[in-house]
Amino acid sequence: MTYIHQTISGLQQTSPAQAEFYQAVEEVLESLAPILESNPIYQQQAIIQRLVEPERQIIFRVPWVDDNGDIQINKGYRIEFNSALGPYKGGLRFHPSVNAGIIKFLGFEQIFKNALTGLPIGGGKGGANFNPKGKSDGEIMRFCQSFMTELYRHIGPTTDVPAGDIGVGAREIGYLFGQYKRLTGRYEGVLTGKSLLWGGSLVRKEATGYGAVYFANYMLQDRGQSLQGKRCLVSGAGNVAIYAMEKLYQLGALPVSCSDSSGTIYHAQGIDLDLVKDIKEKSRASLERYIETHADAQYIPVSEYPENGHAVWHLDGDVAFPCATQNELTETDAKVLLSNGCIAVSEGANMPSTQDAVNTFIDAKIAYGPGKAANAGGVATSQLEMAQNASMQSWTFEEVDQKLQQIMKNIFNTANDTAMEYGQPGNLVLGANIAGFKRVADAMIEQGVV
Ligand code: GLU
Repeated sequence: MTYIHQTISGLQQTSPAQAEFYQAVEEVLESLAPILESNPIYQQQAIIQRLVEPERQIIFRVPWVDDNGDIQINKGYRIEFNSALGPYKGGLRFHPSVNAGIIKFLGFEQIFKNALTGLPIGGGKGGANFNPKGKSDGEIMRFCQSFMTELYRHIGPTTDVPAGDIGVGAREIGYLFGQYKRLTGRYEGVLTGKSLLWGGSLVRKEATGYGAVYFANYMLQDRGQSLQGKRCLVSGAGNVAIYAMEKLYQLGALPVSCSDSSGTIYHAQGIDLDLVKDIKEKSRASLERYIETHADAQYIPVSEYPENGHAVWHLDGDVAFPCATQNELTETDAKVLLSNGCIAVSEGANMPSTQDAVNTFIDAKIAYGPGKAANAGGVATSQLEMAQNASMQSWTFEEVDQKLQQIMKNIFNTANDTAMEYGQPGNLVLGANIAGFKRVADAMIEQGVV
């Protein structure tokens, strides 16, 4: 595996201190060994070396004035990673942990995820090390306006189309779009995840969570099972977690947990989803408030989490949906999940399982859907939003939901068939990485050295 070591140590030299990015690259490269061996063209064409270097990285200052009149400065990013299959597509993340390594890992994952959807979208990602927590509406608006005042010159409906991610939802997309329109004078589909009032698509808000649940169901059906009656462990309480829980209820499963940055809620009789929506979407408050209404639920603060792990994965459940953030599920957590009888994991977040946790799931041969396959429903529905904008149409909820289900089914079948073809049946990490890679790499070869 010298090419893996060579690539990673090369990146450590040229792009230092980007641990999450190396992690994402290493996982993909490990999966690619069989296809690289059987197809020397990819090495002759230096596809790996080209893939790990973004086509363009924009890093910019985001100055804004807070409610006290003090000047604040954040760092903004847009990484246009790969455009072999279409315009750069991927979300914006506003979170204090954001740095170049985080945006690059997300952008790198996005290339393969977007390729797997089968739709014409390249990979990109952006964001800022801005903490939206505790900020007033006015501060959020001024931050978004300042962010877009630089970003607008780099994006466009056929070049680079950002969307939401952690910390960027409907409110932020609204402020970003307003400023883009003011600066350019153009009313066009330059962002996805827009409000339904002005160009958004039905189902986009729900799509990532719904998609991760559809994906889990396809994995289970392939093994002669279903989600019906399953107790489900969900982490997170943002857009992805909320709509994963909504779909779980619709399919007859029982979500019993959710979490935020301060702690985890366990409610054995099933999470009260209206209450979670109220706390997180309306009040933007801590989940701790949940137990004020439900005395029979348990709140586990972060200070009481197990060593090297997250409380949510130490609860009793049949299926796990990590829907919070990267590396939120460790090897220790994976072992506890397995010993508690967990039969499937479907990742709503990007790279939520550490590399050792992934290997633990693969070795145990449970149904494991990696984020770049299981959470691709969000970006796929973004592409459906672009298609509606470009054709000046809007499709019904049922129409978009049908397409989303079909896309998730195709992703599962593609990853599953590819894993089989390469002699590792059931290994959807290998299947997803090879299938995504093949589509991008072949397009890159056809387009020449650019
Ligand atoms: N941020 C989401 C993701 O990780 C969605 C991106 C998009 O809709 O462009 O895939």
